Amino acid sequence: LARLRARLVKSNNVFGKSLLALLSSDDIDDDVWDEIEETLLMADLGTEPTTELLDRLRERVRVEGLKDPERVRTMLREELTALVDPSMDRSLNVDVSGRPSVVLVVGVNGVGKTTTVGKMARVLVAEDKDVVLGAADTFRAAAAEQLTTWGSRVGVPTVSSDVEGADPASVAYEAVSAGIEHESDVVMVDTAGRLQNKSNLMDELGKVKRVVEKQSEVDEVLLVLDATTGQNGLNQAKVFAEVVDVTGIVLTKLDGTARGGIVVAIQRELGVPVKLIGLGEGPDDLAPFDADQFVDALLE
Ligand code: GDP
Repeated sequence: LARLRARLVKSNNVFGKSLLALLSSDDIDDDVWDEIEETLLMADLGTEPTTELLDRLRERVRVEGLKDPERVRTMLREELTALVDPSMDRSLNVDVSGRPSVVLVVGVNGVGKTTTVGKMARVLVAEDKDVVLGAADTFRAAAAEQLTTWGSRVGVPTVSSDVEGADPASVAYEAVSAGIEHESDVVMVDTAGRLQNKSNLMDELGKVKRVVEKQSEVDEVLLVLDATTGQNGLNQAKVFAEVVDVTGIVLTKLDGTARGGIVVAIQRELGVPVKLIGLGEGPDDLAPFDADQFVDALLE
């Protein structure tokens, strides 16, 4: 946990500005407010949430006639926490009573879907769950191989097709069939994300979901987003949310960016919680999203 925290702190602090340090003097003048604003914007918090937060904070400081920097820092923490919304349910819904529970993982190419499936499988295996992986990203030639490698790494079978460009829905179907046959707890399906054409994406993902639902329950549709892509990632997220009912977000590559504030923008825009975060390329670099911890990292 300390390691993850250190990485988050590091990643969010690329600009070297500590929000808490900014609030260390008795006199919070306009320059200080401007610096806070700039820091929040640089972290990709978004203009609207940043303005809202600053308005609220300034008003509270004014009303309470505050001079105590410690108290102002506490208020900043409270306001940021409210924006991240700790009340959202971030637990993963893998209901193994209706075995197998199916998790669809969607997102555009390169965001870290396959890696996320591998890391998640490792977590599930550690919880003593039987897992099957389905390589329904038949678009990218190396994707099936990459997923199979992850499968052997974490000790779970991977269902894939030898035929390049095979129908993703049929691979998903086979994966769930294998899960039913093996009485597995969870089937994780890695899908392809071609965003060039929304109706194609809709057809493809819709078909995968329908086919799978004929066999078992789809408990989670996780949308994977790359935190380093900022506003672009947000636009992608909107397209996916129109195509499938996204139940949770996995925000990857938070280890390489100062843009962690995008969490706020995504949750606001989609009304869907960030459930997991990716903090590196290794098998253990996945963590549940924790609002308080996240705010701490943003502040320091
Ligand atoms: P996909 O096309 O969406 O399946 O993406 P991949 O899983 O192949 O990942 C694309 C690249 O991003 C790979 O080089 C991964 O190792 C890397 N990657 C995935 N997640 C993370 C993460 O959380 N942090 C970092 N630094 N790299 C990641």
